[in-house]
Amino acid sequence: MSICSTIDCDVHANVPGMQALLPYLDEQWRDSVIDRGLNSLESISYPPNAPLTARADWRGKAGEPANTLDMLRTQALDRWNIDVAICNCLYGVQLLFSEDMAAAFAKAVNDWLVAEWLDRDPRLRGSIVVPMQNTDYAVAEIERCAPDRRFVQVLVLAMGEAPLGRRAYWPIFAAAERHDLPIGVHAGSGFRHAVTSLGWPSWYVEDYCANAQGFQAQLASLVCEGVFAKYPKLKVVLLESGVTWLPAFLWRLTKFWRGVRAEVPWVDRPPWEIVREQVRLTIQPFDAPNEPGAVARLVDQLQSDDMLLFASDFPHWQFDGDDIMPAGIPQKLHGRIKRDNALATYPRLSATAAS
Ligand code: ZN
Repeated sequence: MSICSTIDCDVHANVPGMQALLPYLDEQWRDSVIDRGLNSLESISYPPNAPLTARADWRGKAGEPANTLDMLRTQALDRWNIDVAICNCLYGVQLLFSEDMAAAFAKAVNDWLVAEWLDRDPRLRGSIVVPMQNTDYAVAEIERCAPDRRFVQVLVLAMGEAPLGRRAYWPIFAAAERHDLPIGVHAGSGFRHAVTSLGWPSWYVEDYCANAQGFQAQLASLVCEGVFAKYPKLKVVLLESGVTWLPAFLWRLTKFWRGVRAEVPWVDRPPWEIVREQVRLTIQPFDAPNEPGAVARLVDQLQSDDMLLFASDFPHWQFDGDDIMPAGIPQKLHGRIKRDNALATYPRLSATAAS
């Protein structure tokens, strides 16, 4: 990896359709998919025709969101001289109610990602999709994929079945820490619950915006249940979370922790401090006014130069043209955001860089 390298921590490898996964499913599940007429497990957090799901210039001839390696290469990697990109596949594995079927699809998605993407471009890395419906199966999938060092992260959704800090999930964090894999929490829902704490909203715009609430609840859960104390080497990366809600939320969490910290004695230092050490965020979308001075002030409120990671979020429509770095982020941070912070966050990337 060259000294001027750019690491894109959130690009999306989109499964073009169920047919693409069939070769990667075991026979039993392949037959089951055909018998049931199961045509698609698209992530319903990103409906293919929604403007957010893909920029107009990042769609194929039929209007489908970019779903080929060539499109990723020409429209992102080559265009912005990206040396390494982490592929996050949001196929709807978490939508399934059958734990066994979810495990079969997680395996198929991960094997598809290796064969169709990672093997075909040395710049690509992957996140391990895990069946969060069953902790044993999720750990088994991490163990199965971890020997391939091109997997650099474990991928879960911001809104799943239960808060991530729950003890039932801890073996997943233990496995991730053991294998030098951060937990990437990406926007999206398994739709076991309403996406807002008030119930179901009417519109997609409400659904997508509600992800910020999901991220806040997950962060509070991970901190207050003691995950970061139990796994001090574990990093959590909030992917596509927005950024600027964080300072105000942590101010609130830390203020009220001071008052009631007796109920969570394992949280033995201010949440703000824990999050600064162990949590990272990708920079697209960057929820801020279109005013560079305001962006600079918001970045300053993070009180850390280590937390932000570069991401294009390709092919999601978060920005236009080539404005990959939000205007107003101080120049002195660009190198950290584009490269250094990712190398410090992902041990498997820094090992590659060193070799
Ligand atoms: Zn994303």
